[in-house]
Amino acid sequence: MKENPVMHKVYENMKPGVLSLHGFLGDDKRDIELIIDHDAAELESAGLSPADVADGLEKIRDRALEGLGDYISLAGDLSAKADSIRGKLPCPFEHKGLFRKTVISLRGPGIDGDILFTDLGIHLIREHGFFQGKGSPFRLEPVEIAEILKKNDV
Ligand SMILES: [Zn+2]
Repeated sequence: MKENPVMHKVYENMKPGVLSLHGFLGDDKRDIELIIDHDAAELESAGLSPADVADGLEKIRDRALEGLGDYISLAGDLSAKADSIRGKLPCPFEHKGLFRKTVISLRGPGIDGDILFTDLGIHLIREHGFFQGKGSPFRLEPVEIAEILKKNDV
């Protein structure tokens, strides 16, 4: 990490309390590049690309927003709701722009508790292939989310 000043800054941005309360890495001690590489390999084995996952999450988000804070039914027995939280967040990879803090909760058969994701989380997947560190409250397991998206045709 120290050899790469850009990634070092990204790593600092991802610590808890820098850009967001919990940060993006959870208790994952691996380098960010390693997390990305490992998740990319897993996702490839599930037959989807990061863009496919981001597309599916955006569809779920757009439907959830129609529910105005209540769960709304989606295809395949899934349901989702959107909770708007005030404020905006920047990308820890230092892209320009800010992302709404809206949290989407997704539930359905075979999902253990709600899966949570945000606009920034979708961006991190689409642009960076970054699903966040293990233990981060907004980490998505690539294979789990890929299977949910494939099975439910959202
Ligand atoms: Zn970015």
